[in-house]
Amino acid sequence: MRGVAERPAYVVMQPTTLCNLDCAYCYLPLRAANRRMSVPVAEAVAAAANGWAAEGRFSVVWHGGEPLAAGRAHLAALMAPFDPAVEHHVQTNATLVDDRWCAFFADHDMRVSVSVDGPRAHNAARVDRGGRPAYDRIAAGVAALRRHGVAFSALCVVSDPAPEAAAALYGYFLDLGCDVLGINIEEQEGVNARANAHDPARVRAFWAALTAAWRRDPRVHLREVEWTLRYAAAVLDGTEDALLPRQFDPVPTVAHDGGVVLLSPELAGFTDPRYGDFSSGNVLRTPLPAILAAATDTGWVREFLRGVEGCRAGCDYFGFCGGAHAANRYFEIGRFDGTVTNHCQNSKIRLLEGVLDHVDAHERDR
Ligand code: SF4
Repeated sequence: MRGVAERPAYVVMQPTTLCNLDCAYCYLPLRAANRRMSVPVAEAVAAAANGWAAEGRFSVVWHGGEPLAAGRAHLAALMAPFDPAVEHHVQTNATLVDDRWCAFFADHDMRVSVSVDGPRAHNAARVDRGGRPAYDRIAAGVAALRRHGVAFSALCVVSDPAPEAAAALYGYFLDLGCDVLGINIEEQEGVNARANAHDPARVRAFWAALTAAWRRDPRVHLREVEWTLRYAAAVLDGTEDALLPRQFDPVPTVAHDGGVVLLSPELAGFTDPRYGDFSSGNVLRTPLPAILAAATDTGWVREFLRGVEGCRAGCDYFGFCGGAHAANRYFEIGRFDGTVTNHCQNSKIRLLEGVLDHVDAHERDR
């Protein structure tokens, strides 16, 4: 991992800043405002994305706010400039999903990822602006997806990584019918200032228990655990150096107004006296490939790359982690050139240790 690649694997686009929910842990600063992306912004992104998709796999991830709050007609207008070779993904809270949205997903060959935090009691943070729980609306949206045979993945925020709850959590997602599950231990970032420091032994035991539950019935792809096992297998084969990409994917996030923030979507919409608005350019004025070619002209990006070198020099987990995410450093320690964060302890270090604990226990029991 050295430097930032000029060709991304995907671009994140914000069709609207608006979200119809107001989750307690949300990092988005403008989620009560409906600032919609214009079609010229989408056309500017498509000019680059269509070329990348002609060379190999390339995706657009529609992210919000809540992307479905933009409405079907507007989302269709934003998707129209993209060639059929471009894959479309949407990250949604599912509360607006109904029969018409399911038809839209099928018509546009859109891959759906639902944000849901497990059984009802785990979704207490997920409320609307009136403070009303969103769980029943999320469940109704998922039921619509299942009724229409729309495959979906799930993204689960875990606020309390309790080992004793891990098996039931995984069981919930088996019943939900998702094909892929991503687990995010709650992060302290954006406007979410809730502390994310946990007892290390407890987090480690959580990942071990989750791995054990998955091994008993691995019908759902469990993103973090499968990646960790792939890494462990590569270490045993001596091929781990080939596993991480050579450079950071720039992950360009294109905001509603065409502004581009690199590496961490969570920085979009924020300003800082030292770093300004974190933007590396605007697609309405500069082609996206030119913005990416000049990635290291952005001061905070250079500072982040220095932090990654600090990780390489000082962290035993670097080969697995690769330096984690810029936004976690900024929101936890106020800079990009620090190294250890609560996020990387929860979701990188303890993850690797917990999965290996499970493997050890399994070997002992054989
Ligand atoms: S685990 Fe933390 S300190 Fe280690 S490489 Fe990752 S981000 Fe850096």
